[in-house]
Amino acid sequence: MKIVVVGTGYVGLVTGTCFAEVGIDVVCVDIDSKKIENLNNSIIPIFEPGLDTLVTKNVTKGRLKFSTSLAKSIIGADVIFIAVGTPPGEDGSADLKYVIGVAEEIGQYMNSYSVIVTKSTVPVGTAEKVQTAIQQELDKRHLDITFDVASNPEFLKEGAAINDFLNPDRIIVGVSSNKAELVMRKLYKPFLLNDHPIIFMDVPSAEMTKYAANSMLATKISFMNDIANLCEIVGADVNMVRQGIGSDVRIGNKFIYPGIGYGGSCFPKDVKALIKTAASKGYQMQILEAVEAVNEKQKSVLFEKIINRFQGNITGKIFAVWGLSFKPNTDDMREAPSLVIIDKILKAGGEVKAFDPIAMPETRHILGNKIEYCKTEYEALENTDALLIVTEWSDFMSPDFERIKEKMTNPIVFDGRNIYDTKEMNKLGFEHYGIGTKVYPN
Ligand code: NAD
Repeated sequence: MKIVVVGTGYVGLVTGTCFAEVGIDVVCVDIDSKKIENLNNSIIPIFEPGLDTLVTKNVTKGRLKFSTSLAKSIIGADVIFIAVGTPPGEDGSADLKYVIGVAEEIGQYMNSYSVIVTKSTVPVGTAEKVQTAIQQELDKRHLDITFDVASNPEFLKEGAAINDFLNPDRIIVGVSSNKAELVMRKLYKPFLLNDHPIIFMDVPSAEMTKYAANSMLATKISFMNDIANLCEIVGADVNMVRQGIGSDVRIGNKFIYPGIGYGGSCFPKDVKALIKTAASKGYQMQILEAVEAVNEKQKSVLFEKIINRFQGNITGKIFAVWGLSFKPNTDDMREAPSLVIIDKILKAGGEVKAFDPIAMPETRHILGNKIEYCKTEYEALENTDALLIVTEWSDFMSPDFERIKEKMTNPIVFDGRNIYDTKEMNKLGFEHYGIGTKVYPN
């Protein structure tokens, strides 16, 4: 089989590489010529564990190619994936200009039957718009080429994307013809040998499944953050409550960790977009509106703890920030809570010395010289008034606490990810403030 993946970002590059890995001929297309030039020189534009090795291997095998030309790449393609961005528009709804732009281009150049698959996260109804855009271009060319549009939302997690793609929990495919189903079944066959389920459904249900999944996950996070905040008020400890409720199989122990709010390129925009989709049909998503509101508030929780601890004045105080990316094992800084916290500290007159194992170059693009970037997590502690744990990289899990204490002016830790135990930290001579955990008197 031959496939084309349009858009070579987190989703497109992982998708193309993993299909090549199982022996399929893949061309990844992007309008960003620098990105394509780099990929042709084995320079990977993003940090994703294991991706560089797989890209190099499959390029060497001749199964994975990169191009800026969709016109040349789609000739003879069985399947064309659209994996471009769907950022929020001004009103929060998904902006489909990149998706529709690609659909028009496909219509301008396709020369034989293909299944065109939206892998981008798109609102219900988008497949119809893609269908219309392609058909209009074919009509302009007076060509009678048949094609199908399918929906195949992506569920990979940044930081674990390769494994998620090669060993998926499930593959969701929305189709409107038997022919398209057969093509998609054949394409995904290598991934199904280990009994990973492929679930076929109608196209609108597939489009909706992606938003419902991300909204459910965001809901779990905001729910636990709300419970954590209440735990602090009533003198309970959320770590214990989490274990208590997680042992109920109906609830489960995954994704119920409180923190400093969800970020990244998906949850914030997808929750907003679903609220907008509903509103456009006259329906109010009350739960999701609350999920968003709790999340906005949660991004300030660590800063509020800092302000309280320093009696409202942090002018001239220096803060070490460990972790910048929105979650571990990625360099993705889109909607990272670190940016909100750092901005608040700087505006209140504080200074920031930061360390992140991977995301510092990406952060520098956004924050420039507003903060100091340090070579190690220990260098970031030099003469600081407090340490903030912002991203739970494994590097930070078991540090040398004596060394930390020696370097800091004040041994105070604001732990936005609850990676340390308050009682143990107190024994080691630290003040420790977690999210929803008890603070013990000195
Ligand atoms: P991204 O911003 O990393 O990549 C998008 C790429 O598309 C960019 O390289 C851009 O240059 C390219 N592009 C834009 N217009 C183009 C065109 N006309 N022709 C060719 N290339 C074009 O985006 P992403 O994070 O990979 O997300 C892509 C989609 O997948 C979004 O809808 C997102 O919501 C969804 N998604 C993302 C994730 C994730 O973890 N990042 C997970 C599941 C789904």
